[in-house]
Amino acid sequence: MLCINCGTKMDAYFVKKSFSIVRCFTCKLMAVENVPADLSPYYREGYFTGDVTLDGYMDYDSDKEVSKKTYVDFLGVMKKFVKNQHSPSMLEVGCATGFFMNLGKQQGWQVEGIDISEYAVQKTKEKGMVASVGTLETYVTDKKFDAIVAQDVIEHVKDPINDIKKSADLLADNGLLVLTTPDAGSLWARVWGKRWHAFVPPQHLFYFSVKNLSSVLEKNGFKVEYCAHHGKWFAVPYIIRLLYSWTGLGIFSKLASWSSNSFLKKISLPINVRDTIFLIARKIN
Ligand SMILES: [Zn+2]
Repeated sequence: MLCINCGTKMDAYFVKKSFSIVRCFTCKLMAVENVPADLSPYYREGYFTGDVTLDGYMDYDSDKEVSKKTYVDFLGVMKKFVKNQHSPSMLEVGCATGFFMNLGKQQGWQVEGIDISEYAVQKTKEKGMVASVGTLETYVTDKKFDAIVAQDVIEHVKDPINDIKKSADLLADNGLLVLTTPDAGSLWARVWGKRWHAFVPPQHLFYFSVKNLSSVLEKNGFKVEYCAHHGKWFAVPYIIRLLYSWTGLGIFSKLASWSSNSFLKKISLPINVRDTIFLIARKIN
């Protein structure tokens, strides 16, 4: 396959879970080759509620409670860059159960969301917000948004260029595209190699670095204005479970189940291994 950023033929790099990961020699972008036509079996309800075989969330809603600090941080940065300061609008792509949207709404944003999961969209609607089932590709509206937020989405889509172009169409003049995605160029990713936690085919189909992601955006109608690696807050039981999955030591498995029923589940710690890109790009008119 050819690199979506620079057109170079991508070379075989490694195999994980029987999927071949290829890499561009020129810009180092990585991608999954031979993506299954139907990915929906990989996004069943269990993806959001802790089915470990699906490489998804531990438990979406409870994880989000401790992510609140991360999200408030993101909204603070977005507010600095958005042109419409009075009542800005946002479309969240991959809104899951609407946790981020709800925080945005509380801060004066007009919010709308889309997600491929019917389960997630239903949960968002129950919280009193507008949401619909679908992807950016299938989404139809006459509205123009001040910001499109896609957190941990671009690595999941089959055609990122198409999504970036569609985002430009849906944005108002000077609108913002706000992305987070794992940073395959980070030191942390390079140290772990193929065992890096974000190498999860076929849920993650593209593995970007700051440089090649910025390049893709700038070739498709955007100017990158902000890029950082923000830390994330994690509940203690989640951290212990990660230790278990990295080390395979039984002690961590026991500690994880004990801690998830103890006071420790209420405690979260900031961790920043600098392997998540948080980027804001402005539409060039
Ligand atoms: Zn390339």
